[in-house]
Amino acid sequence: MVATPLRRQAGFFRTTWACVLACTALAGASYAVAQASNTGVPDHALQQAQVPLGAGGQISPKYLYLFSPSAHWKGAIHWKYNHANAPQPFTNDRAGVIAQLQQSFDKWTSQCGLSYQYDGETTTPPNNLVTGAGQAPQPDGVSVIGWGPLDPTLGGWTYAWYAQNGNERVIFEADVTLSVSNIASMSDLDRLMTHEWGHALGLDHSNTESAIMAGPPSTHYNALVTPQADDMRGCRCLYGLPTGVSAPYVCSLPKSVDIGNAYVGEASPPQSVTFTNSGNAPLSIQSSSVGDTQFKHVAGCTPGTIVMPGASCTLQVQATPAAAGAIAAQLELFTNDGFYELALSVTGVPGSSAQSAGSGPTVEVVEFYNAALDHYFITWIAAEIANLDAGLTPTKWTRTGKSFHAYAAPQAGTSQICRFYIPPADGNSHFFGRGLAECNASQQAHPDFVLEDPKYMQMFMPVAGVCAAGTQPVYRVFDNRADTNHRYTTDRAVRDQMVAQGWVAEGDGPDLVVMCAPQ
Ligand SMILES: [Zn+2]
Repeated sequence: MVATPLRRQAGFFRTTWACVLACTALAGASYAVAQASNTGVPDHALQQAQVPLGAGGQISPKYLYLFSPSAHWKGAIHWKYNHANAPQPFTNDRAGVIAQLQQSFDKWTSQCGLSYQYDGETTTPPNNLVTGAGQAPQPDGVSVIGWGPLDPTLGGWTYAWYAQNGNERVIFEADVTLSVSNIASMSDLDRLMTHEWGHALGLDHSNTESAIMAGPPSTHYNALVTPQADDMRGCRCLYGLPTGVSAPYVCSLPKSVDIGNAYVGEASPPQSVTFTNSGNAPLSIQSSSVGDTQFKHVAGCTPGTIVMPGASCTLQVQATPAAAGAIAAQLELFTNDGFYELALSVTGVPGSSAQSAGSGPTVEVVEFYNAALDHYFITWIAAEIANLDAGLTPTKWTRTGKSFHAYAAPQAGTSQICRFYIPPADGNSHFFGRGLAECNASQQAHPDFVLEDPKYMQMFMPVAGVCAAGTQPVYRVFDNRADTNHRYTTDRAVRDQMVAQGWVAEGDGPDLVVMCAPQ
């Protein structure tokens, strides 16, 4: 899922994440516990990973990044240890604790290309904030692992901060508070810290259960003690491989493949998914299966395919909905790098391609600019356009001369674009969510957003950032200000110009594309 509008404050951005320790025993309970303990955490970036599961909105079971778009460390992670308040049996074993923290971290760094530097002990507690003159509290810049009281059901709590640096997000501090009451043995500490280090390096809870990073909201905590294939992929896609390690891994997979609308009883046009081997060893695809016969892996990346390092194969999937409505399934590829799972969705619509000849009439989406607000707005509604052209608004909107096409009614292969009004407190502007999943996620993350129209228009979705032939990429940039505003454009030069002015490009794939417009 690409970033939905965020209310961001200037300066630093923080996320916190709680983790339950007694994993197996609390598997059922931990969901509610962590949910409850997470209530009120002022972190919008984190919520974006929490796309609701459900028909049409299904997301892939795979690792997720703590921040979206992802943030990573540059250079070694420097951290310190604070032994104050360490409970029994650790009180007299500070050397043992320090050694364990490093051993737990080594499980990641031995297989993933990041490194850490233990900088000794400190008396500063974790999550220490400093306040300069006239400033809001800021992190102190020192990553500390230490002990403190937490909710009785929690084993640890990770705090992470990143700073926006152009289009790059750099994590510069991560602190972990270890529960003084819930960690009873060195093996408890190992299990908990291996998971917390995963958060500290930039991973959120995975959507697959067979991961050490499994946890609420989509999965449950477990008793795993080492990072699994999915965890390592998440880490490697942020940091690459360490020297001397040879392995294949794929980062190019989208979180989901939404085929959009397809006529009931008719095969949809094939959707392509690019599988790029980012590792340094050949990737071999051993088997492929889809749980639902309404979807078919029709070509590419078939069993027996070998994808060399840096090379790609392109997989094609097709859906033939048996009934109207949303249908979801998983495509599973088993490889020498373990399972890769891909969420597929399609919406069956009545009718046939013979009747509509594939594409209906398009509408023109016209762009306006408001210099007083420094905001952009797009609309295809004739009455709105007339209103803006006539200047019947409190501040003046003028046409930018830019426009693109869209469909007003569903077509085979299109997805709905919803339109939200963002209230004045967050920006007094509009946001256009793409597909049911992003619309649901946006509403969940921002209950105050007003859903003006769930099906404002219909567009094609890019697959891994690539638009199908005959369609045009639409780019989105975000102003990265408290008064949230997004600009949508099919003009790549305009997009780059906005980025040069400090706006943030959002989208999928190497070219950051959000949707595809009919031509
Ligand atoms: Zn966790």
